[in-house]
Amino acid sequence: MIARVTLEIALRKEFDYFIPPELAEQVDVGSRVQVPFGSRKVLGCVTGLAEESAHAALKPILKVIGAQTLVTPKILKLARWIGEYYCCAPETALKSVLPEAVRHEQANWRERLHVRALPVPGELPKLPARQKEVWRILQERPELPLSELLVLAKTTAATVRRLEDRGLVTIAAEISERDPYAREHILPTQPLPLNPAQANALAAIITAMDVGKSEVQSLKSKVQSAPQAEVQGSKFEVQGSMFDVRCSMLDVQASAPTPPSSPSSPRSSTFLLHGVTGSGKTEVYLQAIAHVLEQGKGAIVLVPEISLTPQTVERFKARFSSGPLQTLVAVLHSHLSAGERHDEWHKIRQGRARIAIGARSAIFAPVEPLGLIVVDEEHEHSYKQEEAPRYHARDVAIVRGQMEGAVVVLGSATPSLESYYNCGKGKYTLLKLPERADDKKMPVVRIVDMRQNVRPGKAVSIFSPQLKEAIARRVEQKEQVILFLNRRGYSTSLQCPLCGYVAECPNCSVSLTYHRQEQKLCCHICAHVAPVPTVCPNEKCRNPAIRYAGVGTQKVEATLAKLFPQARTVRMDSDVLKRKEDYRRILGDFRVGKIDILVGTQMIAKGLHFPNVTLVGIIYADLALHQPDFRAGERTFQLLTQVAGRAGRGDIEGEVFVQAFTPFHPAIQFARRHDFEGFYEQEMEFREQLKYPPVGRIALLTLKGRNEEKVKFSADYLKHELDKAVGKTKDLVIMGPSPAPLVKAETYYRYQIMLRAQRMAALSQRLALLIQSLKLPEDVTLAVDIDPVDLA
Ligand code: ADP
Ligand code: ZN
Repeated sequence: MIARVTLEIALRKEFDYFIPPELAEQVDVGSRVQVPFGSRKVLGCVTGLAEESAHAALKPILKVIGAQTLVTPKILKLARWIGEYYCCAPETALKSVLPEAVRHEQANWRERLHVRALPVPGELPKLPARQKEVWRILQERPELPLSELLVLAKTTAATVRRLEDRGLVTIAAEISERDPYAREHILPTQPLPLNPAQANALAAIITAMDVGKSEVQSLKSKVQSAPQAEVQGSKFEVQGSMFDVRCSMLDVQASAPTPPSSPSSPRSSTFLLHGVTGSGKTEVYLQAIAHVLEQGKGAIVLVPEISLTPQTVERFKARFSSGPLQTLVAVLHSHLSAGERHDEWHKIRQGRARIAIGARSAIFAPVEPLGLIVVDEEHEHSYKQEEAPRYHARDVAIVRGQMEGAVVVLGSATPSLESYYNCGKGKYTLLKLPERADDKKMPVVRIVDMRQNVRPGKAVSIFSPQLKEAIARRVEQKEQVILFLNRRGYSTSLQCPLCGYVAECPNCSVSLTYHRQEQKLCCHICAHVAPVPTVCPNEKCRNPAIRYAGVGTQKVEATLAKLFPQARTVRMDSDVLKRKEDYRRILGDFRVGKIDILVGTQMIAKGLHFPNVTLVGIIYADLALHQPDFRAGERTFQLLTQVAGRAGRGDIEGEVFVQAFTPFHPAIQFARRHDFEGFYEQEMEFREQLKYPPVGRIALLTLKGRNEEKVKFSADYLKHELDKAVGKTKDLVIMGPSPAPLVKAETYYRYQIMLRAQRMAALSQRLALLIQSLKLPEDVTLAVDIDPVDLA
């Protein structure tokens, strides 16, 4: 037998290897293998099997990694879809579906020596004192790791070996699982009685699961007959080789099957659960998961990395830690050690954990059979991977759901325009939870017009009198305050008022931020650090009166210390949080009331629940509005709504102050009224006019290189080739080339071409062909981003 192997090194090609008889049992499609390549040994994945090869003298597979096939046929199919849809090499797509901790060569379970007491045939022989002590412990715990036993018995391994010689115990290497949550005591929880809105939502989801099988089958046959999308059928056979299979080009947003749209009878198996913060979405997820477990299936829960806190994980573990539906909940998290990640992943692969919870890449968890995928905070941008493969986990979730007949539930208080639009089109079913589950009122949002605080010749104040007064009152009443500013550092720029010199990063086209605590100028793009000058660095100027402008979190903290010396203020941003324990510790201190005012960046905007927080202040709400990105308004709306959701989670009604220089901007006004629909209607008019997503689809091509002229030239050449290859296509618009908004980053110049199309799948296919024939200078690289979320 011959194995077709996709190697990890980027070659866009499969290679044939001969399967030695001793490995024949272990090699299958999806096996991870080590093979010779030239004089090296490289890792790869078996992506096909064949009877014979066109090549003579094949080299043998050297080694198989892992006891089970690591890439299941279903995940392999998904990886192929990703490679094609996101226009990346198959090996790049394949690499992303397995965690590094599982992929690498030495990946394995940890083995430890375990001691086990054996039954004593007759009378227990007389033992010396030390051995007797060991034996006594073994009567209480007949099996335990040797290392633990030695500590308990205060003895050495030699003593235990003697018991082994007497035939009283065995000592053997056994797998010892690393459980990152072993030390947490989790109290089981019971399902809560649902309120009517929750009950409706759950009923719709459960109905879809129950009709799941027949419904999905009929959807699939519909899809099959559509020219653009093939979900099943011979073309999808996983046994084939990567290159004779044209993968399904299921288009996530454009050509997904459109079931008849009737809001009362959910027909599609993708739901958008739109519920304000605290409306009880998580409880709906939990009960939906209970239902898939009853059906003998499993679930994947995606949450943004930043909300993957111990509290979140605990809610899921607590519900399924006991009772008839008891199962392990595996957590896939970048903060775990490599060993823990290996073990968590294999618990899923072996079917012992039927719930996988994790950030973006958990969408590839080998849960089987898969009944449900939950994507919480589906609007979050961190679901998009910003390096190849540039996939969007929410969109992959929808495709995976369709491939495997699983129900997909997207949840958010501020849905993405894409998802909401798809509800309008009848592709997803909209479910609403309009009120907080705990009967807490939504906080009152007050907009403060900061233009009234501007005085000629003076720096803009950080705190308006209104916010200052509110902080004073809340601190006085022993309530807690969160202040939010999405900019770290002390001052955002250093400028000379005489000659106009601005301290800029030598590697990036941004100004350096002044960090007062560290006494440094820092670049927030590349982390370049420069000393703080005492006079203007311009040779001809040397003005000693250089000025700092712009406000960062450090300055907010310092100003608070002056204004409210009695309050305990703590700052939380990525400068403070060098270690993961810091995050937990600060939040812990805040929870128990050791902190009065918490100042932070977006890190504190998400999903945190503190009952005693009654005031939330947003220092400059317009910061995100003035980004060169068509989603700036949407981001501002989401951010304000999410931050405001932190106030009034307890018994006292909450209050939010939004300070803004453009107080009448729709994003700010709609957020004030908690009016998502209003914002959506208004924003869609603008998207419609310009045919931006979700109305049209875009792809962003970025050329990068150290020599600006070469990058420019390559961009022109690419534009020329694009005109030839796809320019004539109806509905396709090619914009650019133009310098990227951030034209220089980390010493690389960047130029962009944006493509706008009605449908993406067909375009991806043609782009892939074009890229392969493109002849770019060696030091210029091209990045293709399909459905980009970051345009900078
Ligand atoms: P979301 O996920 O929408 O932010 P949660 O599920 O965290 O909301 O719910 C917010 C709070 O309301 C939690 O404390 C939760 O225990 C409580 N809650 C949710 N559903 C109910 C219910 N049906 N009855 C009573 N309390 C509920
Ligand atoms: Zn820089």
